[in-house]
Amino acid sequence: MNRRKFLHRTGWMAAGSCLLPAFLHSCKKSEWQQEGQFQGEVLIVGAGIAGLYAAEMLIKQGVSVQILESTANWGGRTRAFPNAPESIKSAELRTLKGEFSILHDLLRDQNIELIEKTGSELYYFTGAINTEAEANQNTFFQDMLQTVESLNTFDSADISAQTYFDAMDVSTNVASIYTVLAGQVYGTSADRIGAHGIANQYQTWSAGIKEYTITGNQLTDAIETALSSAIATVRFNTVVSSINYSGNKITLQDADGETYSCDRLLLTVPLNVLQSGAISFSPPLNSSKENALSRLGIDMSYCALFKLENALWPAGTTRITGGDLVPSFELTNDGWIYAEVTGTQAEVIASIFGDPLNIIQTQFDQLYPGAINQITESAIHQWQGSRSYDPVGVGAAREALAASINSKIFFAGESTHMGGHHGTLHGAMETAVRAVTQLLSSNPS
Ligand SMILES: Cc1cc2nc3c(=O)[nH]c(=O)nc-3n(C[C@H](O)[C@H](O)[C@H](O)COP(=O)(O)OP(=O)(O)OC[C@H]3O[C@@H](n4cnc5c(N)ncnc54)[C@H](O)[C@@H]3O)c2cc1C
Repeated sequence: MNRRKFLHRTGWMAAGSCLLPAFLHSCKKSEWQQEGQFQGEVLIVGAGIAGLYAAEMLIKQGVSVQILESTANWGGRTRAFPNAPESIKSAELRTLKGEFSILHDLLRDQNIELIEKTGSELYYFTGAINTEAEANQNTFFQDMLQTVESLNTFDSADISAQTYFDAMDVSTNVASIYTVLAGQVYGTSADRIGAHGIANQYQTWSAGIKEYTITGNQLTDAIETALSSAIATVRFNTVVSSINYSGNKITLQDADGETYSCDRLLLTVPLNVLQSGAISFSPPLNSSKENALSRLGIDMSYCALFKLENALWPAGTTRITGGDLVPSFELTNDGWIYAEVTGTQAEVIASIFGDPLNIIQTQFDQLYPGAINQITESAIHQWQGSRSYDPVGVGAAREALAASINSKIFFAGESTHMGGHHGTLHGAMETAVRAVTQLLSSNPS
């Protein structure tokens, strides 16, 4: 029973949205696309999906754009394993969330076959692997599901999802399944995410309830074709380290001392980059921005992918949930196993002496003894910031983060999504639409 099934169960349906500008898909011409607007020089920091999508829109409007990207690759977090060999990259699976999204339309326009997620799940608790039917007959499991479901309408004083679980007095036998459904699916652990954040995301989500599986290569190939003009503008290996917006022009400096200047700046770097102070601002960011940065959450995470000679689970199984340190593993019929560990669990792994990949594989071996001896290839990647989430007391931090500075510096990227789609690919693209709309009609004070 995953979040999607909860949505189905409760009869929740989202209204379709048509956010994609007319020149990139089939929606009617959007209001924001007015002629004769801003024509100055724009710099975009970050060549993830938000930065690329914003650049493509601006180029189509005749605006001069360049993207500055710190790494040697475009795409940012569109890849879980950006530095892995091809065999790993082609095995990586991504989830396209929702049938009403810019990304859905972009992939469809690129003739990508979108395969709806199907299959069954397994649950590990009380020392045994249970099928979904077996788990559903268990009272602890049912209580836990109801607790997860009730988070969607939580409206009392904000508490963490874990505190909520403890208050509901649910059996700890199913606690690690809870931390997946009320934590890891949001990019953190249940002790870090706020109940308000979960309820807000549930209630504002508008991308629809379907989920599709695509491979990492399908995603990046489609982006490469659809956003080719944007990719052509990327200056790689350019780590922006300071931004001066005190004058008419905005001046940027990179880690090698090179300077760049523009009329408008669009920042799409991940939340953790802004939180770390790796980019200095002159004048400094105001208290509203600083406050927003301190209230939003983003965790370090480990992504591990490994293959067994033969699948040890029944055909059609897509996930096993319920381990302690690694709360869930995604599974495929041809023996691939994918684990993403974040939040408290990731920090525990980091604190243990030993290779994190081996620790994750050993956890899997506890579910399927002997599996570790069957591994034919594997990869791990550590993300310093995986996906933003709403900690307890987040308030209107995303709105404050997304606000422009003097209509000169604009903010996009998944962490600036204000409608529940943060932490997703399509959400990052939607922030690009919002920021480009603001930028094109900007009138600096
Ligand atoms: C492991 C993992 C799995 C995920 N799985 C899914 C999924 O299946 N489905 C889904 O919808 N979403 C998924 N997400 C979330 C999704 O990938 C992100 O929300 C989205 O890619 C974020 O895009 P972005 O453009 O906002 O940021 P990013 O992709 O992070 O782009 C920001 C760019 O800025 C660059 N940058 C950083 N600092 C600087 C600097 N100082 N100077 C210049 N450039 C800089 C970075 O290198 C990066 O390229 C996943 C995320 C992770 C981490």
